[in-house]
Parts: sequence; structure tokens; C-alpha cells
Amino acid sequence: MIETEKRVREAVRYLGFGKNEADERTLELIQQSFKDLEQEAGPKSICQIFDLNHTDDGRLVIGQMEIRSKSLSRNLKGCRQVVLFGATLGAGVDRLMRRISLTDMARAVILQSCAAAMLEEYCDECQKKIAAELEEEHLYLRPRFSPGYGDFDICYQEPVVRMLNCAKTIGLTLTDSFMMTPTKSVTAVIGISTQKDRCPISGCEVCTKKDCEYRR
Ligand code: SF4
Repeated sequence: MIETEKRVREAVRYLGFGKNEADERTLELIQQSFKDLEQEAGPKSICQIFDLNHTDDGRLVIGQMEIRSKSLSRNLKGCRQVVLFGATLGAGVDRLMRRISLTDMARAVILQSCAAAMLEEYCDECQKKIAAELEEEHLYLRPRFSPGYGDFDICYQEPVVRMLNCAKTIGLTLTDSFMMTPTKSVTAVIGISTQKDRCPISGCEVCTKKDCEYRR
């Protein structure tokens, strides 16, 4: 499937069509929204490798960050290092979404979904590059795992953003309630494994290894 088809399909999914086809008008608006986003987006990302320690009492220690999360611990089982990852589509996308929401709510909803699809696509591209570099050293990435997913508390956005110096490196900051600015941004922990399990880039949800012990 070519990339443009894939991003349209993802945007349709985010809009809640499920397996149903989107109508012609919606598809037109999706195409136009991606064009508008291409003009305004300034995607940036940052990543850094940290050592990971699993303590006897079930904590994960990554640099100065200590995490309690059963789902993340399972996903990182066997990993001795992780990639901390941050990415954003930039402030231009927020400005565009604000402008459109003042005049056309239907278009604003579609724009939101397209921006979410574009961010995922950008993160996937970044992750593929990181994976390719690590594979040269016979190291393999687990799926991205973001704060707020499962029992990995959203408050861990803060140490990830701090440890990657995201404010300076990619212009990403957090509000007191852990909302990201710009809004179309992501932080994540990605396990590095020595086992040659090539996890699909779209993660555990689409993976066929139903009996995998690391499934998030
Ligand atoms: S279920 Fe699949 S994608 Fe998820 S950790 Fe296991 S091998 Fe990787």
C-alpha cells in the first residue's frame, strides 16, 4: 500500500468509521487536510539511549527516572537499554487547527484526525531509522510505549521531556496537567532487545504473535 493511501486509511479510522467506507466528501476533506498540514507542519524528533535496570521490587530505573508499571515492565522484559523518544509536528499545526476550528467545525474534526495520522506516520519513520541503525549492532526494537498507555502513568511525560531536553531540542513543553505543547506530539519509551524479534512498526495491536510474553 502506498503511503498516501495508508495515511488516508488511518485518518478514516481515527474519524471512527471503523470498517465502513468514508463518503466522497469526507475523503476530499481528508486529502485537502493533509495538503494543509504539509504546509504547516514542522516535524522534529529527538531520541537518546539509556541503560535500563529492573529492580527486584518491580521498578524500572532509566537514568534518574523510576517507573512502576506492570505493562511496561512486561514489554521491556529482557531489555537492558531503552530509547527515550520525543516527536512533534510543531506549533504551525496547532495554529492551523485553531484557525479552522473558529470557522468550520466539521473540517476541524477531520483535520484533528489527519494530524494524528500524520504524527503516527512521522513517529513510524523515525523509529524505522533508529531500528535500522541498531540492527547493524544486532539490537532490535520493541514497540513504542507512551506514558498514558496501560498502567504507564501519563505523569512520566515530565521526566522523559526533561531527560531529552525537549524544550530546547524540539520545542516541546508540558503544561502542569501533562498536556503537551504543541498538542500533536508524542513521548515514548522503546525497549532495545538482543533477541531478534522484529516487532511490526505498528506495534502489538497488529502483531500476529499472540503468545508473545512481551505483549503490551
Ligand atoms: S506482541 Fe509482537 S509487537 Fe508486541 S512485543 Fe511481542 S513480538 Fe513485539
